[in-house]
Amino acid sequence: MQYAVIAEAYEKIEATTKRLEMTDLLVNLLKNTPKEVIDRVVYLTQGRIYPDFVSIEIGVAERLAIKALVKASGRRESEVEEDLKKSGDLGITAQKFMTSKRQLTFAHQPLTVEKVYETFDKMAQTSGSGAVDLKLALLAGLLSAASPKEARYIIRTVTGNLRLGIADMTVLDALAIAYGGGKEARELVERAYNVSSDLGRVAKVVVEKGLEGLEKFEVLVGEPIRPMLAERLSSPEEILEKLSGKCAAEYKYDGERIQAHKKGDEVTLFSRRLETISNQYPDAVELFKRCVKARNAILEGECVAINPDTGEMRPFQELMHRRRKYEIKQAIEDYPVSLFMFDVLYADGQDLTLKPYPVRRKMLEKVVQEGDRVKIANSIITANAGELEKFFLEAIEDGCEGLVCKSIAKDSVYQAGARGWLWIKYKRDYKSEMTDTVDLVIVGAFHGRGKRAGTYGAVLLATYNAEIDTFETVTKCGTGFSDEDLAKLPKMMQKHVIQHKQPRVNSTLEADVWFEPVVGIEVLGAEITLSPIHTCAMNVVRKGGGLAIRFPRFTGNYRLDKSAEDATASTEIVEMYRNQLKKMAET
Ligand code: ATP
Repeated sequence: MQYAVIAEAYEKIEATTKRLEMTDLLVNLLKNTPKEVIDRVVYLTQGRIYPDFVSIEIGVAERLAIKALVKASGRRESEVEEDLKKSGDLGITAQKFMTSKRQLTFAHQPLTVEKVYETFDKMAQTSGSGAVDLKLALLAGLLSAASPKEARYIIRTVTGNLRLGIADMTVLDALAIAYGGGKEARELVERAYNVSSDLGRVAKVVVEKGLEGLEKFEVLVGEPIRPMLAERLSSPEEILEKLSGKCAAEYKYDGERIQAHKKGDEVTLFSRRLETISNQYPDAVELFKRCVKARNAILEGECVAINPDTGEMRPFQELMHRRRKYEIKQAIEDYPVSLFMFDVLYADGQDLTLKPYPVRRKMLEKVVQEGDRVKIANSIITANAGELEKFFLEAIEDGCEGLVCKSIAKDSVYQAGARGWLWIKYKRDYKSEMTDTVDLVIVGAFHGRGKRAGTYGAVLLATYNAEIDTFETVTKCGTGFSDEDLAKLPKMMQKHVIQHKQPRVNSTLEADVWFEPVVGIEVLGAEITLSPIHTCAMNVVRKGGGLAIRFPRFTGNYRLDKSAEDATASTEIVEMYRNQLKKMAET
């Protein structure tokens, strides 16, 4: 296929402002494309040479493109730069300079799509020393063989500036019309895309095998499936009604969504946006290798930062430290993660995307071997609004964002690429951010594990309720303690240890060690939330629930200057909670 055909089509597409017209032009181009190159043409129209999830880009910097143009056109660099300043588009400048050059050269072999694609690919794959020179030579060679119009689009493509505005959805429309027999085929074409994220493969299948090919379109390990997303409702009653009276409710973990593809011993991780993120999570890659019993599988889960000493979940923001290229080893140590698996989409030859949720969940339980760092999402099946609400509060207490409630009906398939009502999220709207520190009383402690063996993993902290002269638990805190603090704490608390919970302490949690309420520490939390477990302000804000401080951190200050009764009052926590909610409502 001649590249000129593509360049012609690009020019027309670029000139139109109407979406329908753009689709028509694309339909024409696809119809004029031989089937052997259809996938490559599809990628090229989007300014790429591979599907989005393959992180190979042609990646030519403007400076290098200028040099190539200088070489191909025989003009001086200053001339090119001068013209570029005026045109603001190196493609236009290339077209202009190659026009004047062309008059001087003789017969041209027409440039083919195959040749252009292959050269782009070579440019993309070169690396290491000498890569720049090779890229330069390849690009200059292409430009010399191109017509001026072709040069314009070649330059724009290699520098990442093609910008024809052809969205994935437009390509799907065009494929349905050109090869699926019309708009009716759109749904099938789209499904194929949703389970492969690869427009080129979809094009190839529909061109070579028609609708029948699409019906049998296969999920492939290695090609990310576009994620299923949830709608949102704000009460358990509404949720149950929408899900025909009964649903599965799962914890909504607050981390990064990961789609893991396991092929034998090889594991690739994709983000929610389908970028490859295996490099950020080499530890998660290892966990998947170990915990997935199927040889080949596609699973989804949430990757959550944890405190390895207490097993507690950490705020989502901590995962941001993983977004780095270097010193990832250190980041793994500083910000360890756990995996919470919530779906399986493929397992050993079986495409599960069209199976109902209960079947997938059963399979998930079969293929995942749980361990310390790998768990299957905590879930219940319920038809009772009260039970759903209770589970919601527990989820929040455990550091989650709320629940994802899932349909268990016959049609509860995995709706790849869609936000629908088969999944409904129930998030904590009742959240308020904390800006002030609080002084809390240490009423109990939990033994540490791992690095914290022999000392405390976390302490149980309470506010003071003067009205009933009671210390009410409000959080468990294991963060912010230096090694020195950890060594000192058991010694310091030794003289306050008692055999059972002190009668003035109100706690539903069973601590490993109980103390007299004497020692206060200063703590900063991230937010105050409703809690089914902590007794601070029980039944004040909501029946059956108290308030808790989420993500507490010891500031390093012991409040030995204050008596326990001078600690932050439960009423103050209520006040802070309400004030912050008000503030949130205002913004
Ligand atoms: P949000 O910002 O609320 O996470 P979102 O647009 O990323 O929204 P939604 O589909 O609206 O995604 O909400 C579901 C998200 O919750 C998933 O993308 C996933 O990352 C996360 N999640 C955590 N636990 C689960 C679970 N058990 N089942 C499904 N998704 C879960």
